[in-house]
Amino acid sequence: MAAAQTYQTPDTNQITTNSQRLDYDLVIVGGGIVGLTLASALKDSGLSVLLIEARAESAAVMKGQAYAVHMLSALIYQGIGVWEQILPNIETYRRVRLSDGDYSGVVEFNTKDINKDDLGYVAEHQALLYPLQEFVKRCSNVTVICPAEVIETKYLADAAVTTIKVADEIKTIRSKLLVAADGSRSRIRQAAGITTLGWKYWQSCIVAFVKPEKSHNQTAYEKFQPSGPFAILPLPGNRCRIVWTAPHSEAKALCALDDEQFLAELQARYGSHMGKLELLGERFVFQVQLMQSDNYVKNRLALIGDAAHNCHPVGGQGLNLGIRDVAALVEVIQEAHQAGKDIGNIHVLKKYERWRQLENLVILGFTDILDRVFSNNFWPIVVVRRLGLLAMKYVPLIKVLSLKLMIGLLGKTPKLAQRF
Ligand SMILES: Cc1cc2nc3c(=O)[nH]c(=O)nc-3n(C[C@H](O)[C@H](O)[C@H](O)COP(=O)(O)OP(=O)(O)OC[C@H]3O[C@@H](n4cnc5c(N)ncnc54)[C@H](O)[C@@H]3O)c2cc1C
Repeated sequence: MAAAQTYQTPDTNQITTNSQRLDYDLVIVGGGIVGLTLASALKDSGLSVLLIEARAESAAVMKGQAYAVHMLSALIYQGIGVWEQILPNIETYRRVRLSDGDYSGVVEFNTKDINKDDLGYVAEHQALLYPLQEFVKRCSNVTVICPAEVIETKYLADAAVTTIKVADEIKTIRSKLLVAADGSRSRIRQAAGITTLGWKYWQSCIVAFVKPEKSHNQTAYEKFQPSGPFAILPLPGNRCRIVWTAPHSEAKALCALDDEQFLAELQARYGSHMGKLELLGERFVFQVQLMQSDNYVKNRLALIGDAAHNCHPVGGQGLNLGIRDVAALVEVIQEAHQAGKDIGNIHVLKKYERWRQLENLVILGFTDILDRVFSNNFWPIVVVRRLGLLAMKYVPLIKVLSLKLMIGLLGKTPKLAQRF
């Protein structure tokens, strides 16, 4: 294991190599985008925060992923004060085009539909993670330990007790609240005995990056095909990210092709509207699943991001849901802290669960239905979905509501997103 990095240690909570017992208001396990967003959002909270990440800082930045970042997530990052560092390295999209196989009834959404300058953004993993890592270094109330391994968690009536291994040293940390932001296979969730509901999809997603000959025109595409959705998202430097959903065997076969054959298949699926494509770097395959935790909280524990829920990538929702979890949790615990209440108490945390569990379930259901209804050639379903596309195209209310749902503007707006 590489040497542990410990930075920005608050004066009141100095970590010393001899210390065996440390006290924080809040411990976050997982320094992915969601965990770091939470640490950043707690900057002015008056709470002492410890963030524990299993991977070294530089390793965490490297991930061949990019995300559609919704308008509400952008507002949350503005509220935190980190958006100015993110915006220069990401792409804005101003149009979204939905199409169904070869059917001519394409639905186009643009900024005029909701009277905004932008519809959303597309960011590579590092374009979000790096500014957040840097931001957290400037938060005097946040300490980061990485790489570090969580060995044990215990929940007492008045504290969560987390035992971690840093290099060869064992440390025990007491906190009022432990937040699990440790991703879909969350060991913290499993060790706490929180059960989940869900299923694995019959499809995998291939993620690849391309450079088209012609401009992407700041347009995002969701092309529905019987084998699964095919998304094209614009990136800076006139590059695009594709997420190609296909049944497992087809995805495996596509990935086994050499670059030239893969590019030929990709070009056929992509279409010729951006001219010839150049394949950039590696392609990655991701398994996808739907998962909802039966509980988001228990006394002294809260789950956020993929640790709490996973959804199909269609519509680019997963990370955005995690960012909204953060804004909701911050609002709930700040209100409790200001009122002199215990932030780890189950009665306080239930407020977060009531807010987010249902909103996330709606989106999980929406992405699941979208994938099932469009990955299908059963004619009654084809008729229904084409009627749906026509309604989206010609009924302004349905169009605006669909767009708002897709870009995160339906549901309760957290206070963090209302600062600007
Ligand atoms: C193909 C595909 C495309 C997608 N596209 C989009 C999109 O366009 N838009 C969107 O919003 N979402 C998208 N998603 C979903 C998105 O990738 C996830 O929702 C998001 O990455 C979850 O972030 P997270 O921080 O919760 O978890 P993770 O990114 O998994 O981070 C968890 C962190 O916790 C750390 N960790 C794990 N265990 C421990 C431990 N025991 N101790 C300490 N640290 C630990 C890990 O090292 C990691 O850094 C997509 C997903 C897929 C598969």
